[in-house]
Amino acid sequence: MTALTLFNSYTRALEPFVPLDPANVRVYSCGPTVYARQHLGNMRAYIFTDTLSRVLRWKGWPVTHVINITDVGHLTSDADAGDDKIEKAAAAEKLSAWDVAARYTALFKDDLAKLNVQPPTRWSVATDHIADMISFGERIGGSTYDAPSGLYFDTTTVPDYGRLAGHSVDDGNAPDVGRIETVEGKRHAADFAIWRRSEEPGKRQMEWPSPWGIGAPGWHLECSVMSIKYLGEQFDIHTGGIDHREIHHPNEIAQNQAFTGSSKTGANIWMHNNFLVERGAKMSKSSGGFATLDTLLDAGVHPLAYRMLCLTAHYRSELEFSIDNVLAALTRLKRLVIAVEKLRTQIEPEMPAVTVSATAHTLLDQFDAAIANDLMTPEALPLLESAVTMKRLAAAERWHVVRLMDRVLGLDLERLVRLDLRLRPAAATLVPEEIEAKLDARQTARAARDFATSDAIRDELAAAGVEVMDGDPLRWEWKVSFG
Ligand code: AMP
Ligand code: ZN
Repeated sequence: MTALTLFNSYTRALEPFVPLDPANVRVYSCGPTVYARQHLGNMRAYIFTDTLSRVLRWKGWPVTHVINITDVGHLTSDADAGDDKIEKAAAAEKLSAWDVAARYTALFKDDLAKLNVQPPTRWSVATDHIADMISFGERIGGSTYDAPSGLYFDTTTVPDYGRLAGHSVDDGNAPDVGRIETVEGKRHAADFAIWRRSEEPGKRQMEWPSPWGIGAPGWHLECSVMSIKYLGEQFDIHTGGIDHREIHHPNEIAQNQAFTGSSKTGANIWMHNNFLVERGAKMSKSSGGFATLDTLLDAGVHPLAYRMLCLTAHYRSELEFSIDNVLAALTRLKRLVIAVEKLRTQIEPEMPAVTVSATAHTLLDQFDAAIANDLMTPEALPLLESAVTMKRLAAAERWHVVRLMDRVLGLDLERLVRLDLRLRPAAATLVPEEIEAKLDARQTARAARDFATSDAIRDELAAAGVEVMDGDPLRWEWKVSFG
């Protein structure tokens, strides 16, 4: 087994991972702000954290993983400006703020399940922790000050503020220079709200009494409070998207330091996934922003094709989202599933215990080395693909290796069959049974050498968005188009 190495954004270096407690590796991931459906970019962040948890478990460590649900406090700008995203969505959708949060939380969890992302050990909802946030705010009183709009954190009271982002307060590159005018009474550009007082109590839907007046907590406060509460003052790994390296996580670190009165950041390793980017922007929803999982489903693309796409890139690289990339991932997944399906037919239902040969050991070692190298999934994936068909291995052994590897990659290969991947696009005019009937009629025509009829059926299917693939095990394929 290769020792696990992870890239720590805090030191900007690859570091050997040494658990604080090998019996319980503790991981916190910044979760969604539930004011809208999470887009495919957001889902990349959770496929990344899922891969991380799976790798930690592969390495033999039990994992406690906490993901928060931000249902209050996140303003339309990560800097201290704008409206609360949830309240704004509630007004726009004519729903209560609580209903908005419940609705998008449920959709988010559905999307995770479709991507075969394992639920964390604990979902931690911000509004369930208001009392904890108030006590935390009181305890860090030495680092806070009152401004007309609420309680603010003085970023000059902690050592090395902004180090995670790669700059400090006084080098002119602090993350939020320019924001200082936007909030009256704020002492330094980088200072941020711990508690925002309601301008007119009774107008906001989500507000609570506090020593600093009726109001709501700041977004950064939530994650410090919930991570410390469930994982302790110093835990193993904190994750989030790369955007959090600039403001949100430096602010969490500052709060943690004020809370513990030390220079410790709260997590031994800070990890950030890079962004899903869209250069052509063809798949953006007209409302703006990224496509969601529904965009893929409507086009007839299985959600796990998106997981496959994510696995083909290292989590620290940008990943380009395009129709071609999604379809290439879908094809790659289909090939894999067809090979696995064939493999399944070759094994006994009641498999005897598998003796692992030297060849299989080598393959598993290579796989282990890939994922131990800062979760290098693009190198691990081809090893799984070659294991499925490797002639030198007996079928039972191949199956054993594939199942082990898929525990890490999460493509659900034990259950997935090719039919699952043949999703009907929303705009399709035919149902699969009709297609099958037409294909049978075409087969009969071909057998009778009636090529005119056989071609006519092929054209008819093509017009309905179905491509006939002679000789291909898939037999027919929807022609995927993204509107
Ligand atoms: P939010 O709901 O805005 O708090 O974001 C949820 C998670 O998605 C955070 O970890 C973000 O950093 C991450 N994220 C946002 N946009 C993208 C993107 N385009 N690609 C990858 N991760 C993203
Ligand atoms: Zn967070």
